[in-house]
Amino acid sequence: MRIIVHVDMDAFYCAVEARLQPAYRGRPLIVGGYKHSRRAVVASCSYEARRYGVRSAMPIAQAARLCPQGIFIPPNFPLYRRVSAQLHNVFQQIAPVVEPLSIDEAFLDMTSRAHLFPDLETMGMTIKRRVFDAVGCTASVGIAPCKFLAKLASDLRKPDGLVVVRPKDIDALLLPLSVRKLWGVGEKTAARLAELGVHTVADLRQKSLGWLNQHLGKTGLLLYDLCRGIDERPVEPPGLPKSIGHETTFPTDLRARPVLSGELRKLSERVAQRLQRDGRYARTVSIKVRFSDFDTVTRQRRTPNGVRSAAQIMNAAETLLDSLEIRRSVRLLGVYVSDLIPFCQLELF
Ligand SMILES: [Mg+2]
Repeated sequence: MRIIVHVDMDAFYCAVEARLQPAYRGRPLIVGGYKHSRRAVVASCSYEARRYGVRSAMPIAQAARLCPQGIFIPPNFPLYRRVSAQLHNVFQQIAPVVEPLSIDEAFLDMTSRAHLFPDLETMGMTIKRRVFDAVGCTASVGIAPCKFLAKLASDLRKPDGLVVVRPKDIDALLLPLSVRKLWGVGEKTAARLAELGVHTVADLRQKSLGWLNQHLGKTGLLLYDLCRGIDERPVEPPGLPKSIGHETTFPTDLRARPVLSGELRKLSERVAQRLQRDGRYARTVSIKVRFSDFDTVTRQRRTPNGVRSAAQIMNAAETLLDSLEIRRSVRLLGVYVSDLIPFCQLELF
């Protein structure tokens, strides 16, 4: 099982300001603009200010009406960026794989470090302490088997929170939630789901894959997994990805070889597009096949001369699929390329 940590600083801009200016501590502090500024919006507000109903992105004028005794200051972005750099440095020291999400947030993949801690709570407390020691501000931390749950968890006990989600806790956490809490459910999808009578994750869980696909297309297939706490996306460091892949979950399980070949072709085309856009060749092609009983196999093949076109990727993928005995129906098919090298470098081989 993976150990994914989401770290999110609490009211970051306010916390940085209050660290330098003790008079701000414990007070309703609003960063965004002076009280009478007409056009500014709230960039960050302290938890004391939130008690008055002040929220991020609200016009300063409205915040001033809600909280007349608040302290209103303009943002000092160069300062926040400096503290953010220190923060992201600490993340790099803590975790082998870090994916920064914003100025004050990151995913850490701690799977290979788990043995260093007696339990996940201790891991979480250690991360919180190291962050506080480095930048003097508190963080909320969520720890879970996947990114989406870790992010959800870090938000549950803000500020200064720590929430560990174990597989056995997933249903209790997810089922009562509004579907809006699921990754990728915005205004539009939520409204569509409400029309269909789906309001909570528990409602969503009742729906079949076919039903979700029929009403919501691709998003529906994604939601089928998310509402079960399934999210296989890796924690990805910034820069070019180390592998490129696309996969499809079918609304109904497939078995006929020509149909599977057609799907492999579509996936290969999408992979080739991204590969070409990044200006790279791949020297390894892999496929993933998940059968109707959720049994999942992967196969990979090295191509020392490198592949780049959809046809080349498709060829390798077909060969890999041929090496498998398709005795059961297929629920998911994926095509990936890895061991990526830039064009210019290939010339050297
Ligand atoms: Mg934050």
